[in-house]
Amino acid sequence: MEAFGALSGIVVVLFILIAGILAILMPFFVLRIRNEMIKLNENMAKVIELLGGSTSENRTGNPETRKIKICPYCQAKNRVEDYLCINCSKPI
Ligand SMILES: [Zn+2]
Repeated sequence: MEAFGALSGIVVVLFILIAGILAILMPFFVLRIRNEMIKLNENMAKVIELLGGSTSENRTGNPETRKIKICPYCQAKNRVEDYLCINCSKPI
């Protein structure tokens, strides 16, 4: 069983080497995948915007394009999270 022992030793060393190389390269892969995902996400948001849909959060857009609530009484623009109109203080 000398040959088997030597072979298994080589396999273990190879395995540790490969695992070590992968462990060293892992952060680069993770970073790369992360960047790709961010890019993809931005592209998808653009596509959804072009198709006329609305993204749940519009981080890249300016405040003018953010969701607003128009007051039914005085047509004032209010933030979505507001319950009372900033202009006429009526519930919206
Ligand atoms: Zn109002």
